[in-house]
Amino acid sequence: MVDLLGQYEKIKSQVDKAILDVISSTAFINGPEVKSFQSELEKYLGVKHVIPCANGTDALQVAFMALGLKPGDEVITANFTYVATAEVIALLQLKPVLVDVEPDTFVLNPSAVEAAITPRTKAIVPVHLFGQCADMDAIMDIAKRHSLFVIEDNAQAIGADFYSSTGKNQKAGTIGTIGCTSFFPSKNLGCYGDGGAIFTNDDELASKLRMIVNHGQTVQYYHDEVGVNSRLDSIQAAVLRIKLQHLDEYANARRRVADAYDKAFREHKNLLIPVRSPKSSHVFHQYTLVLKNADRNELRKHLASKDIPAMIYYPVPLHLQKAYKDSRYTEGSFPVTEELCKNVLSLPIHTEMNDETLDYIIENVLNFFN
Ligand SMILES: *Cc1c(COP(=O)(O)O)cnc(C)c1O
Repeated sequence: MVDLLGQYEKIKSQVDKAILDVISSTAFINGPEVKSFQSELEKYLGVKHVIPCANGTDALQVAFMALGLKPGDEVITANFTYVATAEVIALLQLKPVLVDVEPDTFVLNPSAVEAAITPRTKAIVPVHLFGQCADMDAIMDIAKRHSLFVIEDNAQAIGADFYSSTGKNQKAGTIGTIGCTSFFPSKNLGCYGDGGAIFTNDDELASKLRMIVNHGQTVQYYHDEVGVNSRLDSIQAAVLRIKLQHLDEYANARRRVADAYDKAFREHKNLLIPVRSPKSSHVFHQYTLVLKNADRNELRKHLASKDIPAMIYYPVPLHLQKAYKDSRYTEGSFPVTEELCKNVLSLPIHTEMNDETLDYIIENVLNFFN
């Protein structure tokens, strides 16, 4: 699905040197590389504060902790997402309120959000799924009218631009109260292990987030809050500093693959190509087809027999997962998400795909139907 080795080989001399320099410096934890990466990412995103942390799941958890939500508070999020989004909500004893997504762009449906609001609702978590932004104009408007926090799950869309109807362009993750991202190796900005970060433009919230990721302390051994231990390693920060310089070029390389897939599959009667929102650029973390009157498992098997991987993101909606069963929801409660879970298939997309491979994949997808 990705070619992390090919990508590494192009930046190998820089990366190897940066990693060895961290080792020689022995500044493994909170070293200068972490601070430099933090300020470089702040500049790239146009956001006041970046708080690095250990992974994307921690980023979400710490965001909820900083907002002071209480057990039983309701948090609205998309049903069609990676489990981490709902996991941290449940872990903190908040109540995940799931809503359906748009059938063509796969992001949160704003009218479903509005319909799910109750007096106990405290926050909305839009997920910028597969690489493009949810409709942040509509979501911020709902949040404002109901005084709700907005936590953007930006693990899949770092670098994407949201084109607001006010004419302002903002980077994904910098629009809500807090943005969260992951630097898991296969994400668009991935390190060589685990990593994550939290973004905010709010000074007070930034101090609180910084305190929580560091055991609830601002002065060593004086703990003002119950916190966690969540740090980005200096070695990972050193790698990320190099890869951040290539992030836009990486997004272009992914879009080039998506453009070719779009062109090849647009008119196909059994394939729906992913629709690009006019309000967002798309950084194509995934290229996800929806199959129509065709068996995706058979297509997947056919591709596997040609050594082409294809993945199902995601096979089971949250409300049908054992851990997230809830008497409010049954099969049929979320028709769009349920249909997507039955019919989506993601094709390989990455920064190193050459024309030969791309043509080979397209040809084998098409010849399955002949
Ligand atoms: C990857 C991902 C996360 C979690 O990030 P980790 O770094 O793996 O903890 C959260 N939300 C979404 C949508 C993701 O894709």
